[in-house]
Amino acid sequence: MDNAGSRFSPIQAFLEFLHAKYAPLREGEVATYIPELATADPEAFGICVATTDGFVYEVGASRQEFTIQSISKPFVYGLALDDNGPEWMMAKVGVEPSGDAFNAISLHKVTGCPLNPMINTGAIATTGQIAADTPQQRLERILQMFSLYAGRRLRIDQDVYLSESRTGHRNRAIGHLLRNFDVLTDEPNATVDTYFQQCAIAVTCGDLALMGATLANQGINPLTGVRAIREDHVENVLSVMASCGMYDFSGGWIYNVGMPAKSGVAGGVLAVLPGQLGIGVYSPRLDTQGNSVRALKVCEELSRAWELHQFNPPYCPQNSRRLTYTSAQRTSSRTRHPAEREHLRASGHLIHVVEMQSNLAFSTTEPIIRDVIGSAEKPRGMILDCHHVTSINRVAARLLADLARDLKSRKCDVYFTHTSRLPMLKAQVATHLADSDLCAELFRYHSTDAALEQCEDLLLGEARAQHTSGKNLREFEITAGLTEEELAVFASLLTDRHYASGEVIIRLGTESTNLFLITKGVVGVWLGAVTGEGRRMGSFSVGTMVGEMAFLDGEKRSANVVAEGDVECAVLEIATFLALQQSHPTLHTKILRNIGISLATKLRKLNQDVTILSAQRD
Ligand code: GLU
Repeated sequence: MDNAGSRFSPIQAFLEFLHAKYAPLREGEVATYIPELATADPEAFGICVATTDGFVYEVGASRQEFTIQSISKPFVYGLALDDNGPEWMMAKVGVEPSGDAFNAISLHKVTGCPLNPMINTGAIATTGQIAADTPQQRLERILQMFSLYAGRRLRIDQDVYLSESRTGHRNRAIGHLLRNFDVLTDEPNATVDTYFQQCAIAVTCGDLALMGATLANQGINPLTGVRAIREDHVENVLSVMASCGMYDFSGGWIYNVGMPAKSGVAGGVLAVLPGQLGIGVYSPRLDTQGNSVRALKVCEELSRAWELHQFNPPYCPQNSRRLTYTSAQRTSSRTRHPAEREHLRASGHLIHVVEMQSNLAFSTTEPIIRDVIGSAEKPRGMILDCHHVTSINRVAARLLADLARDLKSRKCDVYFTHTSRLPMLKAQVATHLADSDLCAELFRYHSTDAALEQCEDLLLGEARAQHTSGKNLREFEITAGLTEEELAVFASLLTDRHYASGEVIIRLGTESTNLFLITKGVVGVWLGAVTGEGRRMGSFSVGTMVGEMAFLDGEKRSANVVAEGDVECAVLEIATFLALQQSHPTLHTKILRNIGISLATKLRKLNQDVTILSAQRD
């Protein structure tokens, strides 16, 4: 545990304030019914708070060990759920508050089952459900589970265990009662003995805080990253803590403090703020209900000061739409023929990009879905960009899968992009849709740019076909405004070149000054390596020109240009072009102007991209 960073923290300062404020409080009595517990130092007092990213604030006797006692009950219940499932456990142990003392020898009048797993009857019944061939194996599994929560190997305090074992006749009576009603089917003394040992596990309040943070973190220990309980059982465990965790003060506790919690007779209290915090407090003096007096005060004041009450969360789920735009506002990085650009300006509003962000759960995904299905005109392309999504839960993944399937059935192409950090999304979509072809299609593109390029190609369809091959120079951006005569002269200056797929047309760093007019196919522009680890910055298709920067300034090439498929180019050499200045000065000026316009168009697009990407954020 490294908490050096907390020295000047106002959070640390507040915990120290609470510690100083309640240390003089001497109400309550140390438990004595287990003789060894009576030896505890009544003044011992520690407070720890652990965050779901594994930071632990600690004050006072935060590293002093004490026995976990009843705080073990919800965790063993979690293990029993993992082993047997909720249905089985519900048939064995209920989830209703009992109103009786924790050690009452009572079972439900009708079902014959213990009322809940937080009282001794329910806890001993629960221990008996842990899968094992022998009591030793059962104990080892329990110890191992606690060690996962705490992030360190825990041990049993033999003195406390033996002390309770010598005196725990009441719990043994409970064991036999449970055996009588077939809630326990094994030899009851062995199960009760395991229960005594689980209660005698030695922990610190730092351990308790981390165990709480693990529950707050959907079952994954935030320090070790290791799962301690199945994610879907966390809510079961926290629910019984919320309704039955604080003995006969459970109602008052949830009313005042508002966090699931569990206390134990050794003086420990563990509280959990789901999704946010784990709290561990230790002080052995107990009130008449069996809860640590100081721990109660500390938790009440912490909850009030930091507004931690779970039923009045201080924030609403954030809007998960980071940015939305259409292809009419921002196209892909493909430089296209002027006619295609025009076409996209007119119909690009049918292709939508939705950049999502933060944590996608039901309430943050619902506005996205509302937005997407509410688009005025039937969309033809929908790109759901996950680059800024930090997490996604099952519900959100399934809702998005349903949305995607529905859009696909209405002839809209849908792509999830930048999903590599969210394996959960792909896995859930695949299971939910049970259609591997559709799933492969939805996740076909890593980048939004590639998906956008594809959607544009599909939208352009027919219009595009006219420009993808052939060498009607009249249509090219470089020939705008040329007379028939000038066009003929210009055409005579060009040499045709053919490139096979993957061939490098322009190499980064070289000194070549030709200008390439693309007459067939598509070329890609790459920074760094060509393909692989390189970065595809954009692409050019028929009717456009590439290489005009070095053509004009004579500097080295700033990127690689590679043929994507069969490519044909008409090449203009700089020397030929310069000669035009003498022979055909007007033509020379017109060409120069068109190259300038081409550069200006690219610059304008960059400006527009920056405007859209920075200013339009929600
Ligand atoms: N081992 C103790 C008992 O069964 C635990 C009680 C508790 O902490 O509430 O009596």
